[in-house]
Amino acid sequence: MLSTEEALTAMLACVERLQPVEVPLDEAAGLILADDIVARGDVPPFTNSAMDGFAVQAADIASATAEHPVRLRVLEDVPAGTVAAGTVAPGTAMRIMTGAPLPVGADTVVQVELTRPEEAEVLVLKSLKPGANVRLAGEDMKDGATVLQRGTFLRPGEVGVCAAAGHPVVSVYPRVRVAILTTGAELVDVSAVPGPGQIRDANAHSLRAQVRTIGAEPVVFPLVPDTREAVRTAVAQALTEADVVLTNGGVSVGDYDFVKEVLEDLGARLVFWGVRQKPGKPMAFWTLGSKYVVGLPGNPVSCMVCTEEYVRPMVRHMMGFPLLHRPVRRAMLDGAYAKGADTGRTHFVRVRLREQDGTLHAVLTGPQGSGILTSMAEAEALAIIPEEVSTVEAGSLVEVQLTDLPEDH
Ligand code: AMP
Ligand code: MG
Repeated sequence: MLSTEEALTAMLACVERLQPVEVPLDEAAGLILADDIVARGDVPPFTNSAMDGFAVQAADIASATAEHPVRLRVLEDVPAGTVAAGTVAPGTAMRIMTGAPLPVGADTVVQVELTRPEEAEVLVLKSLKPGANVRLAGEDMKDGATVLQRGTFLRPGEVGVCAAAGHPVVSVYPRVRVAILTTGAELVDVSAVPGPGQIRDANAHSLRAQVRTIGAEPVVFPLVPDTREAVRTAVAQALTEADVVLTNGGVSVGDYDFVKEVLEDLGARLVFWGVRQKPGKPMAFWTLGSKYVVGLPGNPVSCMVCTEEYVRPMVRHMMGFPLLHRPVRRAMLDGAYAKGADTGRTHFVRVRLREQDGTLHAVLTGPQGSGILTSMAEAEALAIIPEEVSTVEAGSLVEVQLTDLPEDH
């Protein structure tokens, strides 16, 4: 059995980034850029007005005040999207709208609030510095400049930069396609009322949500019956349709657990089976060419914790994310924690956090059984109790992984 660090390291060593693809810009948010973005032209492309008002020569209005306004002759109107026909000479102005090109001869825009228009003339009530309310060509992006580096996560702001820079199509790492197979004869669909011996399939849904939260694309399969043939068919099909296959249930030592045998038959290479951790000890990992299969334990919390700890960083790596690990802080554990017979394994303990007098405290969310989903739902962090530690006294410092915050290393 591997330690938690060894297991993650082994997985990250096996998986490769997906090949970049070109996608329409509107499909790129949430993905990582695979190429630099270079500005195609200056942004803004021309010097223009930042205000609705009057384009003038600053020298003309140097003495303007409310008591002694400066009177200028208005030559023409310059709405956005047009170019002035004439030029602004001393003693003249043009009415200009936000975003319209600054007319030749003008160097300043007086906002309409500082003027009093009169027929074919305008009174300017205040002097302004040359260049006031003027946006210079290229002040945002210079033609040919690299405005985004590859490896950048595309948020809405970055998408806007790509658009302004003239890139309707961008090169990104694609969403990893993740097939989710839940197995177990006891499972029924969430819409069903469980009969005797049956339980609702929670994991299919928590897994889909986790996969979506990573930014990957879940490939949904119906519940797989616990027979060798059904598992074989489903796994084989999942391998053709997805980059990563998550099997769920059927990796512990039950009589009807076929996942392991089926993967061996299909020629997959078992990288490891078993991690010294709680929850999630029976987790397994296989590779088959450029496809990866993670055998997740069926217990609902084990399934979620393994997805958080291993599947998430692995899939992020495949999607080109440079940061793979959640923020880690030290927190004071309120209450004691004892591993009992499970010493020798890393424990991931569901906690909430609170700050008191500048100290971060971690509070257990409730019973820690690997079937207690409600205490998982309440958690905002996982306290990591290392293998060799058997008991944590109340008030001791523990490391906590902040699973609600974006990766920072
Ligand atoms: P297994 O890993 O298949 O031996 O399952 C371990 C425990 O998790 C059993 O109590 C199962 O009933 C439960 N379990 C397995 N799969 C699911 C699932 N998809 N949703 C909810 N509980 C499950
Ligand atoms: Mg099972």
